Amino acid sequence: MAERLSDIVCQDKAIGSLQRAYAAGRMPHAYLFCGEDGVGKFTTARAWAKMLLCQNRTRRAGEPVFFDSCGQCDSCRLFESGGHPDFQPIYKELITFTKDGKNKTAPLDMPVDVIREFLIDKITTRPQRSQHVVYVVQEAEKVNRSSQNAMLKILEEPPTFCVIILICSRLEKMLPTTLSRCHPVRFGPIDSQTIIRKLAEIGIREPESVYWANFSEGRLGQALEWASLTPKGDRPYQIKCELLERLAGAALPDVLEQAEWMSKASKHIAAAWSAAMENVSTKDINRRAQTGAIQMLTLALTDALKLHVGAAEPLVNVDQTPVIHRLADNYEPELLSLLVRQMYALRRWVEDNVNEKLIFEQVLLNLTQSDIINLSIS
Ligand SMILES: [Zn+2]
Repeated sequence: MAERLSDIVCQDKAIGSLQRAYAAGRMPHAYLFCGEDGVGKFTTARAWAKMLLCQNRTRRAGEPVFFDSCGQCDSCRLFESGGHPDFQPIYKELITFTKDGKNKTAPLDMPVDVIREFLIDKITTRPQRSQHVVYVVQEAEKVNRSSQNAMLKILEEPPTFCVIILICSRLEKMLPTTLSRCHPVRFGPIDSQTIIRKLAEIGIREPESVYWANFSEGRLGQALEWASLTPKGDRPYQIKCELLERLAGAALPDVLEQAEWMSKASKHIAAAWSAAMENVSTKDINRRAQTGAIQMLTLALTDALKLHVGAAEPLVNVDQTPVIHRLADNYEPELLSLLVRQMYALRRWVEDNVNEKLIFEQVLLNLTQSDIINLSIS
């Protein structure tokens, strides 16, 4: 993980705006880092915090000025070990560490107890090793209205040594009163060539790297997560290839068997994720795996649609062009565009925690029966 600001790729604009305000002595005490998941918001928040806490921060001469952590002082070392007392990440899985949270599992939203006990009640605690205490609230869009209201006072006037960074991928979920108290920093998507290069650094080559770059749509973090998963058995890329093969050959009598396979594949990916990620709830991991599988299908259908309409845009599944041609032969363009819309509807089922196998059965029923039945979701 890039731990210094100068190691972060393709977020020069966001980091530049942080640096300029800092150099001018106008550092805000509450930030809102906004942008899609996986574009580097949390990585930047960590690196920014590390710089603020560093006892020997470096300053690159010239214009524009650029401050960074040294990577060698006690504070930097403590930070890297994960035990810096002045760096406080806040995430919903902390629920198990709240007063009444023993044996509780993390809900889908940020629990109010976490915000109260780990942010509001702690905010006056002075720094122990540095000049600042940096709080980073992950998934701030999942902080509900009443918790956002409870946070207003500390966002308005935090103690001078505090820096609060809210990380958010859905601005529309934030109250205007929250937004107005935070300094916004926008994070844009990362270009696919950079993603392909980063994947090559961890040993992922073409055509797989090209697929993940296309799949992730500029979210480097997501591309790295998928590509570096090492499940027992098939890797996600192999699963994607088989999934498309099955999709192109889907027939009504096999629906249950195929759905069973998809459900198993999704569980297989989720298990690998659980092993790779601490602090993420099982529900979130399952959801991520299911959404990923649906995304793979959606992109394949969109590709087939592109062939029909002769779009200039390259295929996402350029590595499986013959399979996409088979799909295009199997389905008329009107049907494909209807199916793509249904895939977006199915993502809502995932959000609503509908049983996994049921979701995949519905996907396949839509595909195989779409010309004979009136679809139940549209
Ligand atoms: Zn340092």
